[in-house]
Amino acid sequence: TQELHIVGGGMAGSEAAWQAANMGVNVVIHEMRPKVETFAHRTGNLAEMVCSNSFRSDDDEQNAVGLLHWEMRAANGLIMAMADKHRLPAGGALAVDRDPFSESVTDTLRALPNVRVEYGEITELPSDGHWIIATGPLTSSALGAAIQAETGAERLAFFDAIAPIVYAESIDMDVAWMQSRYDKGETEEEQKAYLNCPMNRDQYEAFIDALLAADKTEFHEGETAGYFDGCLPIEVMAERGRETLRHGPMKPVGLTNAHKPDEKAYAVVQLRRDNALGTLYNIVGFQTKMKYGAQTEVFKMIPGLENASFARLGGIHRNTFLNSPTLLDDQMRLRSRPNIRFAGQVTGVEGYVESAAMGLLAGRLAAAEILGKPLPTAPLNSAMGALVHHITGGAEAKTFQPMNVNFGLFQPVDGLKGGRRGRKDRYKAYTDRAKADWQGWLDAQS
Ligand code: FAD
Repeated sequence: TQELHIVGGGMAGSEAAWQAANMGVNVVIHEMRPKVETFAHRTGNLAEMVCSNSFRSDDDEQNAVGLLHWEMRAANGLIMAMADKHRLPAGGALAVDRDPFSESVTDTLRALPNVRVEYGEITELPSDGHWIIATGPLTSSALGAAIQAETGAERLAFFDAIAPIVYAESIDMDVAWMQSRYDKGETEEEQKAYLNCPMNRDQYEAFIDALLAADKTEFHEGETAGYFDGCLPIEVMAERGRETLRHGPMKPVGLTNAHKPDEKAYAVVQLRRDNALGTLYNIVGFQTKMKYGAQTEVFKMIPGLENASFARLGGIHRNTFLNSPTLLDDQMRLRSRPNIRFAGQVTGVEGYVESAAMGLLAGRLAAAEILGKPLPTAPLNSAMGALVHHITGGAEAKTFQPMNVNFGLFQPVDGLKGGRRGRKDRYKAYTDRAKADWQGWLDAQS
């Protein structure tokens, strides 16, 4: 039988190896550590947790990441099994004892007769055989260069610059209005792409004060602050001068307040539609290093966002990731070289859990292909499916930035109340539907 080669034994690579090996495929994991180090990893273990020790919420009825936990457990996932085994008390969150966790993942995989771990850096894209590349946010620079040579430089980024993402339903449309600047855009769809939140002078001044005073996070040691002028954090722009934002991302020109056509706004915050469903909007140009708590406080000062709920908050990190919507098919294969799949954070998902999930899926899809029984990709209404659909098709390619799993990625359920009041019922309906569809996908393989 043919072997499956996996580059990178992190969250995604380890889970992919486990899934493929359990399906009877021979697997080689290529891991560069401990020979070649990264600035964030400390050990030579597989599946090392580089920073926090949390897998976030374990609530599989009201939380999308908890649902992803459920789906991985249902698929006999190794990362979840070892996280459960080394769980630490932490309320509703799944916190993990990191060293025993990664040691157990390493020992379990190394004990399998059909898994081999080869220590060393891969520096080229392989031309034949079946491969999964799961080299993560800190993909080595040689391999990064090889990927760029294949995809074009602009389709592999080395930093993310994440603007906060707001649930559309939580925006107050009595204050905000829909309009693209200078009414640009041919189709109605394009004109619906932007929402605007107006500020008067006092609101703007108070907002700048809050930005300047907010708590910020520092770059990690060794993580060079190599962000460029095109994606400066908003608080850095504000530090350069109180008027900078009003002449930059918050400029009020080319817009007329639909609710108060005679009033000229002093500044305008624009939001841009972030997915085809229209359930998510990002705040244009608002990438930031403010701490999460500070972000929610400061952004709620924006008129129209007083009650906003955030699908994800902003950030800027060292993060190698593909423009997956243009590069990968729904089987997670590189369109230009279908013998290569990508998995994990390098595909533009964000977080331990999401990365492991994309490893699980890629491992099963690759193994099925090797065994001559190709599988359909994950069902759209499962958390796995919603996430893989977002990165390989649902997200806007031009502004693509890494994404956490969240309910804004899910197709609506018919006949349920919108808005905040119906939220609990809606989330339960999403998770019930997801579990049934995911279990159906798994059952069809057994
Ligand atoms: P990784 O787990 O990083 O695994 C990739 C593996 O590939 C590594 O073992 C690496 O050594 C190896 N590799 C790289 N290049 C090569 C090569 N050329 N040849 C062979 N092997 C190679 N997520 C969270 O959920 N919570 C956090 O608190 C958090 N904090 C983070 C802090 C930092 C500083 C960074 C950089 C990331 C953080 N993340 C966090 C994101 C986290 O890294 C990912 O969620 C998760 O580890 C990604 O899994 P992965 O398998 O895609 O990549």
